Order: sequence, then structure tokens, then C-alpha cells
Amino acid sequence: MEPAFETTLRAGLSSMCLPADDGIVKQMEQYAQLLREQNQVMNLTAITEPEEMARLHFLDSLALLSAAPLHGKRIIDVGTGAGFPGLPLRLADPSIQLTLLDSQRKRVAFLEGVVEMLGLKDVACIQGRAEEQARGEGWREAFDCAVSRAVADLRMLLELCLPFVKVGGVFLAMKSMHCEEELAGAQNAIKVLGGKLCPPYVYTLPGLDAQRQVLVIEKERETPKQFPRRFAKMQKEPL
Ligand code: SAM
Repeated sequence: MEPAFETTLRAGLSSMCLPADDGIVKQMEQYAQLLREQNQVMNLTAITEPEEMARLHFLDSLALLSAAPLHGKRIIDVGTGAGFPGLPLRLADPSIQLTLLDSQRKRVAFLEGVVEMLGLKDVACIQGRAEEQARGEGWREAFDCAVSRAVADLRMLLELCLPFVKVGGVFLAMKSMHCEEELAGAQNAIKVLGGKLCPPYVYTLPGLDAQRQVLVIEKERETPKQFPRRFAKMQKEPL
């Protein structure tokens, strides 16, 4: 990996007051390298320039560590793709018990390769659709926290993610600052699914001007059994 990756990553970790141990940086570098290699044979990410990978994949994912207490928590990353935001969180904090969920087999196969290469025995890489998986025993209301980035409109995303979260847990949705309309349209979904909207965590990535935000939705009550519905139903009749 080019030196620009490490330089950008280290500078970012330091400005975000996160540990930049050699071991953690090395693992992130190996992961980024494998992502770049595999991206030539399968479409995993549009972000491949080293500095951008460090900033937009790794540091962006790590912003979640400041959005809610995640140390020692059981976390599911819904629609993780090539592992973001979940995997950088686990690399930065090994106490996190991580499940990576994606519907695409080839993406999950890539993640299994990363996890094996890095020797992360306790990270589960699961191929499945969130709306089906969330109905299974050991999955429903089984996680302290669900995280998700760039997967669906907030109304649908809430239905895909909140069923995984225990009462007292939290769902962290990574969104741009321009999601007022999306948020306004999701008020009913938050209520129906047992959530409570808390103040967002707003941040700026080192080296970029634009602000980003993490929507923080606490789980106050159990999600009614009829949710999540089938994907087509969610699309046709969003909450
Ligand atoms: N979260 C990653 C990121 O930010 O780089 C990947 C985002 S990618 C645009 C969206 C991912 O969500 C895809 O990998 C897709 O397969 C997955 N996905 C979409 N709908 C899903 C569902 N219902 N259940 C599980 N995964 C889903």
C-alpha cells in the first residue's frame, strides 16, 4: 500500500483522539491492500485511491466510536459490503463482538478472506438478507448495536436494522447532513418499530470541509413481531 494511506490514517486517528498502535495501522493497511487487489476482479468499492480509502472508508467508519459507547458491545453491520463501517471498528477495538451481514455472496466471501488473513477468529461474516435474518432466533433483539452506511432510505433502513437491536440498545445510521426530508419521513417508522430519536453525532473528517452525521436511534420498546416485512412490501408501503 502506498505511504499516503498510512500517513492519512495516522493523522486522522490522532486528530480523532483514537489509538494509532502499529498493529492496528498494519491490519488496516493489509485490509485496504486486499480490498484494492480484489476490487480488480470484483466490484467492491468505487473508492480506491489510498488517501481516499483511509479517509472515506476507515476514518469515516471510526467516527462511530465517538457516536455511542461501543466498547465490549455486540454489533451487527447491516449491508456491510466490503466491511464498512463494521470491520474498522473491530480492528480499532478488539473487545467488539462483530457480525457482518450482506446479501451478496461475493462480498461475504471477500470478508471471509480478510477475516482469515487478519486472524480475527471471532468475527462472523454472514450472507443473508436483513429482513429474513432478523426473524431468526439468536438474531432478533440480540445485538447491543446495529450500524449501517449507504444501504437504504432511512424508513426502510429502520425496518431492516431496528429488529436486531435489544431494548436499551442503539441503531447508528451514517447519513449526510442533507437528510432532513428523509428524517422527517421516518418519524412514524421510528415510533412504530420501538425507537427513539436522539441528538445526532455530527463530525467532520480530517482534511474535508463537509460535515457528516450519525443518526442515533435508541431502542425503547420491542419491535412488533410483524416487522420486518418482506422487502417488496417495505418498498411498496414504507412505514
Ligand atoms: N456499507 C457499505 C459501505 O458503506 O461501503 C456498503 C454499501 S453498498 C452501497 C450496500 C450494501 O448493502 C450492498 O453490499 C448490498 O448487497 C447490501 N444490502 C442491500 N440490501 C440488503 C439487505 N436487505 N440485506 C442485507 N444486505 C443488503
